[in-house]
Amino acid sequence: MRYIKECGQTKPNTILQLLYIRSCYASQDQLTDEDQHEIQTICLSILKNNSHLVNSTFMEGIIMGLCCTPLWRNSLEYLNNFKNEKDIKIRAYSCTIFKAFKEEEIDIGWSLIQTMYNQHEILLTSVFAAWFNLCDINKNYSYQKVLEFLRDNECIVRTHLAELIHEKYKQYGSKITTTIIKPDGRCTNCNQILKPVEITNSEFKALQESFMSRVVIGKNIFNNSSPQELNNFKDFIKNTAPYDVVVDGLNVAYAYRGKIANDSLIKIVLKILIKQKSKVLLFGRKHLVQQLGNEFNFIKRNVNIFFADDLSKDDPFLLYAAMYSGIQTKILTRDLMRGHKFLLNNSKMQNIFQKWLQKNRLILKIRPQNEVFIRNPIPYLQTTQESGKGIWHLPYEEIKEPGSWSKPNSSPDNWMCIKTLD
Ligand SMILES: [Zn+2]
Repeated sequence: MRYIKECGQTKPNTILQLLYIRSCYASQDQLTDEDQHEIQTICLSILKNNSHLVNSTFMEGIIMGLCCTPLWRNSLEYLNNFKNEKDIKIRAYSCTIFKAFKEEEIDIGWSLIQTMYNQHEILLTSVFAAWFNLCDINKNYSYQKVLEFLRDNECIVRTHLAELIHEKYKQYGSKITTTIIKPDGRCTNCNQILKPVEITNSEFKALQESFMSRVVIGKNIFNNSSPQELNNFKDFIKNTAPYDVVVDGLNVAYAYRGKIANDSLIKIVLKILIKQKSKVLLFGRKHLVQQLGNEFNFIKRNVNIFFADDLSKDDPFLLYAAMYSGIQTKILTRDLMRGHKFLLNNSKMQNIFQKWLQKNRLILKIRPQNEVFIRNPIPYLQTTQESGKGIWHLPYEEIKEPGSWSKPNSSPDNWMCIKTLD
């Protein structure tokens, strides 16, 4: 930068200055007080002179610069000032988090990890690595904060972060191993039973009200349906609910295509449910009639059927029927309903929705020889949890999309059993 200043006839332009700041960030550990002062001056001056240019990439550069200087806390103000938090670049968060941990401003660091998670649904392995490093330097801080964060946010991590947790706990002297959880929730390593999925009546009532008011009255998810169809459906449910099981007809008919030969899966599934004497709603489209074949009349006599127009989206109808029916009603679908949890109005409600889905979604299994089973939902909580004093269980998934994570929509691929020394 000095070279440019000395050689150039004019002041370096803003883009060049921002590039310079970014390169300083890369070598921040070698910066002198004088360098830091210079970066600070550049940041403040380009901010002052370019307020019309403020966008996420610009601010990312400024925040990276400020995080090299004693003025790093100003970044918090800039992060807060963004009208749409989704526009903030991940890097702007992570730089501020690294700096906060370096300065032992741990509340600031963790609160930013939470904000980043809420806004971008991302858990960066590097920010957790920064926390572990801080714990290694200062024994007042505990690794367990990471497990507590994962527990409180009910998230399932990907392999990268799981490997980091494994490595750090192992170094620390804790007993940590991959494990298998039996269908009843028992860990094959430590023999502890994982916590059950529980939803209280008041939680379910709150979920029901939230769904009905935001999703149904708001009509945002019924956009493709005619008001007439929606009213017909509501009347139908009012007259026929409650159900034991709500079946996603199209999903069952097509999601398992190719897995079963020479017969219609939907027909087999309905016959199993009829045999169990369950009160069933089959929701689907008119062309499912062909798949039900000559047993349609038998099924019609034993199952409540509602066929919607081809334009409708199915999941809001299924959720409506299930939630209207009550806390015990099961739902049979492979649809993960990912879109819906974010329609609900807060993270607490999203978590209840996930738990409800896990607790109420039946699982279809097809074994060799076309044997079809309907398995009850997995009874144990599939999120990070403390199972006994100092014993933690942590689910994690293979990497599907780098840097991402998922809520427990489906069973996690792997589990870790950790006996902490804290
Ligand atoms: Zn265990």
